[in-house]
Amino acid sequence: MRYLFFIFISCSYIFANSHIFVYHRFGDDKHKSASTTIKELEEEFEYFKKNNYKVVSLEKILNKIKKKENVPSNWIALTIDDAYKSFYTHGLEIFKKYKYPFTLYVYTEATTKKYKDFMTWKQIKEASKYGSIGLHSYSHPHLTHKSNKEIYKDTQKSFYIFTKKMGYAPKTYAYPYGEYDRRVQKQIKKFMFQKKPAFDAILNQNIGSVTKETDLFDIPRIALVGNVNIKQKLKYKTFDAKWIEPLKFPKDGILKSIKAKVNPKYKKLKLYITSEGWRDIKVNNGIIDIKLNIRLKRARTRIILGTDVFTISSNIITKKRNNNDK
Ligand SMILES: [Zn+2]
Repeated sequence: MRYLFFIFISCSYIFANSHIFVYHRFGDDKHKSASTTIKELEEEFEYFKKNNYKVVSLEKILNKIKKKENVPSNWIALTIDDAYKSFYTHGLEIFKKYKYPFTLYVYTEATTKKYKDFMTWKQIKEASKYGSIGLHSYSHPHLTHKSNKEIYKDTQKSFYIFTKKMGYAPKTYAYPYGEYDRRVQKQIKKFMFQKKPAFDAILNQNIGSVTKETDLFDIPRIALVGNVNIKQKLKYKTFDAKWIEPLKFPKDGILKSIKAKVNPKYKKLKLYITSEGWRDIKVNNGIIDIKLNIRLKRARTRIILGTDVFTISSNIITKKRNNNDK
């Protein structure tokens, strides 16, 4: 009996990881690298259905996190970035067929200026009958390259247009390109509407799962493009780590140390650094303190800690482009 109880507890702990996916284009042969074919989409949806996954609205997952309640491991939320026309012409009917809700993130400049490849406000309104609509900036900038003032202006402009066109204010925000750092996050998080923070949640594009411990302003999403191994994508779990260093891209571009706190029960872990790959590391009393001397080759470097390649905590540091418009 005691043994069974233990199994129950450990399973509920291990499996309380839900997943949020992000799509871009659908059945778009001209942009294959960002597109999911209708066949691939239906195969993924069939996989969810056959394996007892439940596609719920993003809001349903956010509510669980707000209440600090376990997010069931079989819950999935689907998001779509940019509001490309191909969602309206190809993707939407499949979502409707399966009755799967979604959250569509609008690149407001493209929609407002009627860029050829993008949905119109009328089409977005039509789509909003079947899902929710969120904000994806005005000009789709690389936010890490922008000053605080520029980030504010872009957000304000898109927020205003969205609210005017949709008749209500957006409640969630997805970073363009999924790119952000702690400074960018702070700017979006503190963006105000009617004297309150405007957004309930901010979504990035880091690989990982969502649990009741997930920061509502740092929600990971796994990108689904083309023919993916969906079973493998659903294996990702959250590893609980408190990052101490690095918290930003080093000025001289040299990564000198990695510090983090983890549960002391772990004696060794795996560490990943972009362009360096995985390595095994030792943990002393829950402290990771590693001295390095790595010249970072990429402007965007991902550092991951985990018990294996699927149970992970990601830390992304992005080089800020030098500009004069501070
Ligand atoms: Zn985008």
